[in-house]
Amino acid sequence: MDSAAPLIDTLGRRVSYLRLSVTDRCDLRCTYCMPERMQFLPRAEVLTLEELYDLSRGFMERGITKIRLTGGEPLVRRDVMILVERLGRHIGGELDELTVTTNATQLAEYAQGLADAGIRRVNISLDTLDPVTFAKLTRRDVLANVLAGIDAAQQVGLRVKLNSVALKGINDREIPHLIAWAHKRDCDITLIETMPLGEVDEDRIDHYLPLTVVQDDLEVRWRLIPSDYKTGGPARYYDVAETGGRLGLITPLTNNFCASCNRVRVTTTGQLYPCLGGGERVDLRAAMRSDDPHANLAMALDEAMRIKPERHHFRIDEAGAEPAQPRHMSMTGG
Ligand code: SAM
Ligand code: SF4
Repeated sequence: MDSAAPLIDTLGRRVSYLRLSVTDRCDLRCTYCMPERMQFLPRAEVLTLEELYDLSRGFMERGITKIRLTGGEPLVRRDVMILVERLGRHIGGELDELTVTTNATQLAEYAQGLADAGIRRVNISLDTLDPVTFAKLTRRDVLANVLAGIDAAQQVGLRVKLNSVALKGINDREIPHLIAWAHKRDCDITLIETMPLGEVDEDRIDHYLPLTVVQDDLEVRWRLIPSDYKTGGPARYYDVAETGGRLGLITPLTNNFCASCNRVRVTTTGQLYPCLGGGERVDLRAAMRSDDPHANLAMALDEAMRIKPERHHFRIDEAGAEPAQPRHMSMTGG
């Protein structure tokens, strides 16, 4: 076994991108993501910051060049900046990039620290600019904090990319306005289809909005020019001629992108999921807490490459269908 060999799966896909969930907790309760009474993990099950760092080092040894910290809400994890600063020291070395996905409720407080640690880009989830819709959708009335977080990030020079889940009957009519708003502020924006992950209090089919429909609507109003731009994620990008900005579309349901997948996800308990939409899993925490963490982690990563599935099999088109996976997106991160 070569403990420094790159991570390549059985289909020849090279894995270079780790999405690392640092907590499953969150200060919002987005209705498509989790129920109001979400059962969070007992703290004892969660990896320590030290373990999260050591795990990341193990991935870097195997050629991971990009890490995205996610959750839950990464900025609610106590002392998360200790991890950010330690990982930040690898930027320009093993890491090309360290990024964060956040709901931005606390970003005003953390933006400077993130920039100081070497982070250049943040992904911010924002599904609506309407305070009433925001309060209903996230079950918390804190849009003003999010907007302050976006301002703060831009002020300290972080590039902001907005992510918006397209939801029928919730934000569908607002999507052109959201895009124009983002582009006016010099932010890229990516739209995402809602995925059947974990039980929520509503039926997702009620709000599922295929991006093929959104794209058709947008093309009546704007010229979308396909772009070669890539960020290492699954989005396909377009330049919007009229706004001068960039629009990404993430279409897990209507347009499968698994053939170019370069990612794995690790939950805050150290469970590696080689596919967001599959049940395959490798327990890295057991490897990390064994007598020979280095060798056992390398073996566990090899196993993950053996079991990475060819593609996900999400379906959302049957009313009342079971979630494709019982785990919520807040476990595996976005
Ligand atoms: N709390 C942070 C945030 O909201 O940016 C990071 C974690 S959150 C799980 C990451 C992304 O997943 C967000 O953009 C969110 O909108 C998206 N998301 C959550 N549940 C989803 C679902 N069932 N389908 C599609 N996207 C989902
Ligand atoms: Fe929290 Fe992000 Fe899920 Fe919303 S999408 S509940 S902000 S983890």
